[in-house]
Amino acid sequence: MWNEIKLNISSSLVFYKEFILFLLFVCVIILLVVEKLSLAIPLIFLIIILSIFILNLIGFRRRKEIDEIKNTISSIRQNKYQSSDEIILSKNLVGLEDEIKKMFEKAEGDIQYLERLQKMRSQFLANVSHELRTPIFAIQGFLETLLNGAINDPKVNKHFLEKANHHTISLSNLLNDLIDISMIESGEMRMSYRYFEINSFIDSIVDEFNQMAEEKNIKLIFNPAKDGLQVFGDKEKLRQVFNNLLQNAIKYTDEGSVEIILEEEKKFVNVLIKDTGIGIPEEDLNRIFERFYRVDKARSRAVGGTGLGLAIVKHIIEAHNSKILVQSQLGEGSQFSFKLKK
Ligand code: ADP
Repeated sequence: MWNEIKLNISSSLVFYKEFILFLLFVCVIILLVVEKLSLAIPLIFLIIILSIFILNLIGFRRRKEIDEIKNTISSIRQNKYQSSDEIILSKNLVGLEDEIKKMFEKAEGDIQYLERLQKMRSQFLANVSHELRTPIFAIQGFLETLLNGAINDPKVNKHFLEKANHHTISLSNLLNDLIDISMIESGEMRMSYRYFEINSFIDSIVDEFNQMAEEKNIKLIFNPAKDGLQVFGDKEKLRQVFNNLLQNAIKYTDEGSVEIILEEEKKFVNVLIKDTGIGIPEEDLNRIFERFYRVDKARSRAVGGTGLGLAIVKHIIEAHNSKILVQSQLGEGSQFSFKLKK
């Protein structure tokens, strides 16, 4: 009992300055009002006893509240709550209850986000290992066959070396794309925006792809916009976007054409890259921008694809405050489009 009272009083003594001031004030008033010392002293004594009683009450309430908060925090720490609705404090702590609930929900959200991130990281690592394994095993296989004697067989030696070389190119493409995507996703991609002339920019890209298109007997068509039209963006990053989209358009087209169309709008230029290729099934359309997602794995690998190209394109276009859109009809062709600020 005494211990309890001692504890109550000590926990209410956070107000000791106010308490002493109040007592002094009351004593002075009593001494001024009550002239007889024989009456004033018992009165002061009574007030001190009363004050101790009040201190005990305040201390008791305060301890109860602090214990309640301590228990709630410790239950959160020990994962005893499934949802924030289970957190209930007494009426006079409603404001604090709301804050604790919000903190609990935020912590839950953060944990779920970190778990998702961790899962994505493991999945990404598994994908990367798988993608690296394919060309490395192939190169190893060809080199071993050559070392085991095929090097002296003029019918196959050149062919095997060409195959091994093809896989080293795939490996290097994959590493370049991996470096790009990790730079982009870690926020290290530095953008350098400026105005540039779009027609000559696309002309220079088309020049680079002419040979690839000719080899497949595909017409590569560019319909320029009005002379001198300027757009705003990071020229080098946009070159990467055009390279990826054109490479895909030619890779996944067996006959017909690949066309780059520029549609001038009031504030934007709409860029369309249209092909008459194999097309993309409807159910895959919203997944092709995911890392390593391929509609036809065998075909993508055969044509040197890494499965990362469109994920990189999406990031770059979004960094330009735009959106990459795709429309496609299986067997008829695909069209990728995005807007650039004028
Ligand atoms: P990849 O390196 O495999 O080409 P991308 O990320 O560039 O990877 O593309 C993802 C997938 O989307 C490709 O594997 C392919 O199946 C499909 N795809 C992309 N562009 C086209 C296109 N123009 N025509 C048909 N399919 C396409």
